[in-house]
Amino acid sequence: MRYAKAVAEPSRTGEKRFLGIPVARGVGRGRLFVFHPTASRTVPQYGIRDGDVPEQTQKLEHALLRSREQIHNIQKRVRENMGAKDAAIFDAQLLLLDDPVLLEEVVRYLRRERVNVEHAFSVVSHRYLAAFGAIDDDYLRERMVDMRDVVDRILHNLLQREGPVGLADLREPSILVTDDLTPSQTALLDRGLILGFATDQGSHTSHTAILAQSLQLPAIVGLRNASRQLRSGQYALLDGFNGALIVDPTDQTLFEYGQLARKQLAREDRLRELRDQAAVTLDNVGVTLSANIEQTAETAAVKDKGADGVGLFRTEYLFLNRETTPSEEEQYQAYHRVATDLHPSPVIIRTLDLGGDKVQSERTLPVEMNPFMGLRAIRVCLQQHGLFRTQLRAILRASAAGNVKMMYPMISGLDELNQANRLVEQCKAELRQEKVPFDPDLEIGVMIEVPAAALIAETLARRVKFFSIGTNDLIQYALAVDRLNPQIAHLYQPTHPAVLHLIKRTIDAAHQHGIWTGICGAMAGDPVLVPLLLGLGADELSVAPSLVPAVKFIIRRLKSAEARALADFALGCEDLNLILERCQALAEDIAPDLFANDNPTA
Ligand code: PEP
Ligand code: MG
Repeated sequence: MRYAKAVAEPSRTGEKRFLGIPVARGVGRGRLFVFHPTASRTVPQYGIRDGDVPEQTQKLEHALLRSREQIHNIQKRVRENMGAKDAAIFDAQLLLLDDPVLLEEVVRYLRRERVNVEHAFSVVSHRYLAAFGAIDDDYLRERMVDMRDVVDRILHNLLQREGPVGLADLREPSILVTDDLTPSQTALLDRGLILGFATDQGSHTSHTAILAQSLQLPAIVGLRNASRQLRSGQYALLDGFNGALIVDPTDQTLFEYGQLARKQLAREDRLRELRDQAAVTLDNVGVTLSANIEQTAETAAVKDKGADGVGLFRTEYLFLNRETTPSEEEQYQAYHRVATDLHPSPVIIRTLDLGGDKVQSERTLPVEMNPFMGLRAIRVCLQQHGLFRTQLRAILRASAAGNVKMMYPMISGLDELNQANRLVEQCKAELRQEKVPFDPDLEIGVMIEVPAAALIAETLARRVKFFSIGTNDLIQYALAVDRLNPQIAHLYQPTHPAVLHLIKRTIDAAHQHGIWTGICGAMAGDPVLVPLLLGLGADELSVAPSLVPAVKFIIRRLKSAEARALADFALGCEDLNLILERCQALAEDIAPDLFANDNPTA
């Protein structure tokens, strides 16, 4: 992983290169699909005369007609590709389009206020959405997602904007270009139609990076305003090694990248051979190499890539794009499926990490000025006991499989751990009474993501069975660098001495109390940094399934003494760049084949 600055670069040859931050390796080529979520656009507002009302009304009728046509087309495609059940989802959207109340209300508003139809529609539809969201009815709240989609679509058509309205308009395999991709948008993506991602915002640990790694697709983030300069349909190459999006590539560039892609495939073939080999160093020190997953279906990739189980199951993805939370039974089915699919390998289920950039809906969590410092993760769960207990019961029931462990995200103090554990005990008592089986010895760990938790690691270590260091957040909180902000991506430095000392302190405290420490942030999946983390004493690394082979490869080329010497050097060094250089030198020395051939002109 490189930590580059994002810049745009003109070219002599007619092709245009946009440079950003490479976050998932590989090369993609194909047409661009440029997606601008309507919500982020400004809607013009201007006055109209009485005589303009018929024309404005007609505009709205046209937009409704066009929206209906588009939804019918999407529905047809979904029916052909995914079956009638999935296509029926769009019936709800068509029904909303046919609802005369919204239309009448908009016309009344524009006549009364003498404003243009786009503005009138925007005001009225947002009131409508707010009223809908406030009704205490699960079914109606579920319909909010459809409602928002329809409102966005009508507004897009009213504004006569070019290009796709929503991600559902994606029809052919394309490179997705957008300002930013939220976790809920990505959950709606037809993943089979994506060749790669290029976003204006984001950094190494943003959701786009995590998703691209789990889908094994190339990705670049931090392209600043590229999405505003590009159009859907343009042909491009996406270089996830070097962070370049090359639009209208010349024949020479296409040739060079063709070579690069072939070399990459050959390298992947070699790495595939490691699938059934253990993650051990040359001097036979074993490391647990687990995978991070977000969806139940990813268990296939966990096995296919040869991971030792799941080190982080990000359960919040089950909660996105819906207004109601999944029931205990639905959650149980998901956790049970992952546990039994991978049995006897361990599966660490992380309790809900909603908040930050992962928001379920406006209704469940308030909009905050500083969401990463706000109501997030364990803080949400300890405020909403019903939500938390439902999940705890589902995890406990799934633990009957025997290979489940559980951890709490974003713990910052002992009190939170104690409160969470008390709720677990209550849930266990209930299940016992109901004679529902669960693992009475379910191991509970905490994520170390907040510097305060690292500093009180001894206190926490006495009360839990393991630690898992979430470096994505630990770095952002230790260095006060928003992990999603490309403007300061260059300040997001995993080798910063402060970060390394926090990691070391955590691991030492764990070992003193006889428990183990894993690392599940993006740092663990960067082969360059793997020797350093092992030298610091990490017992487990948990990475995106697609990164397992490369991490295993470097572990198998490493001697533990080299790793320890690197860590000793790093802990005594004041210069983060020097530490990074040493890490790079060691990695390239022991595993040159892993880093060669990344540059098309090399
Ligand atoms: C982390 O913070 O490193 C982590 C693994 O959790 P997430 O990326 O889901 O916040
Ligand atoms: Mg985290």
